[in-house]
Amino acid sequence: MSVPNTEQTAILQKYLDLPQRGKVLAEYIWIDADGGMRSKTKTLDKKPSSVEDLPEWNFDGSSTGQAPGHDSDVYLRPVKFYPCPFRRGDNLIVLAECWNNDGTPNKFNHRHECAKLMKAHEEESVWFGLEQEYTLFDQYDQVYAWPKGGFPAPQGPYYCGVGTGKVYARDLIEAHYRACLYAGINISGINAEVMPSQWEFQVGPCQGIDMGDELWLARYLLMKVGEEFGVKVSLHPKPLKGDWNGAGCHTNVSTKVMRQEGGMKYIEDAISKLAKRHKEHMLLYGADNEQRLTGRHETASIESFSSGVANRGASVRIPRSVAKEGYGYFEDRRPASNIDPYLVTGIMVETICGSIPDADMAKEYARESSD
Ligand code: ADP
Ligand code: MN
Ligand code: MN
Ligand code: MN
Repeated sequence: MSVPNTEQTAILQKYLDLPQRGKVLAEYIWIDADGGMRSKTKTLDKKPSSVEDLPEWNFDGSSTGQAPGHDSDVYLRPVKFYPCPFRRGDNLIVLAECWNNDGTPNKFNHRHECAKLMKAHEEESVWFGLEQEYTLFDQYDQVYAWPKGGFPAPQGPYYCGVGTGKVYARDLIEAHYRACLYAGINISGINAEVMPSQWEFQVGPCQGIDMGDELWLARYLLMKVGEEFGVKVSLHPKPLKGDWNGAGCHTNVSTKVMRQEGGMKYIEDAISKLAKRHKEHMLLYGADNEQRLTGRHETASIESFSSGVANRGASVRIPRSVAKEGYGYFEDRRPASNIDPYLVTGIMVETICGSIPDADMAKEYARESSD
């Protein structure tokens, strides 16, 4: 079934040029029950100067699977705002946390606990860099630009590919890149991936809670740009069975001491702590990740923890350049493309820097999984 085209951009332009008479459009965005995003727009009388100026808002949580029908209000508490690359001018995108009527965080709001952990470990100055891999599909749920009813030639020419037939959807990817830069996201690069129509963007280094915030915003922008191109974005870790690469969200990590001379000792210490909590981490590293972590296609097996210098078949990799210099960062290759970055950066800090009494990412996950 075809998706109707709702993007008559040539006609729309006439209206976009109309003055807004001082009003500001704020697109409130939040994370839903399925790891997707929702949004709605509020008209503001003036541009806010800080997040405190933004009003709390709400939505019908029974329509998003985030609340029962008899107590359906979920509250949106603004935490950050960014310039909107779609509406431009003074218009904004507002990232909001979801809260229940009884004053508790909504069960899909993992930002709240993560922020507490990040705050408690501010001194350690934890930096993250996330590599978001994703796969594009067309309106008919075929992998974007793949031959109808068939397959493209086997993997090989597509990773960082250049040239017709080797790379698809570069226009969409370029548009997303610019949108991220406009919004102020610390996007550090993009590349075409091993499977055709699979791509990656990297965000980071970002400190603490900014990592989750910026990754979610970058995902939102990608889905929005996709609307205009009529292209669907999939974050599934193994979108196609068979000899096609899966999609991950490699998580690069460093603390202040790891980034200083002699930092390797702290990197090794962190890796040995990660080895001891492999199972707990895997619970938070994305649904269906067992389909991806097979030990093939540049992955390690989900069953056991491994690490190594320059080894892309290990759970955790120390980049060659880091080993050479003796300090820097490490890469956790286990997280799937569909992770909630708040859960992953949260448990990472908890494991390598230590927990704080009232924040526990494993319990946080249990809260989400119950019922
Ligand atoms: P790969 O070689 O695994 O494909 P990428 O270049 O795609 O690596 O991604 C590397 C990521 O690591 C980037 O997001 C970058 O911002 C991040 N990064 C670089 N240095 C650090 C650091 N010291 N701490 C945390 N992340 C870092
Ligand atoms: Mn990469
Ligand atoms: Mn990659
Ligand atoms: Mn990587």
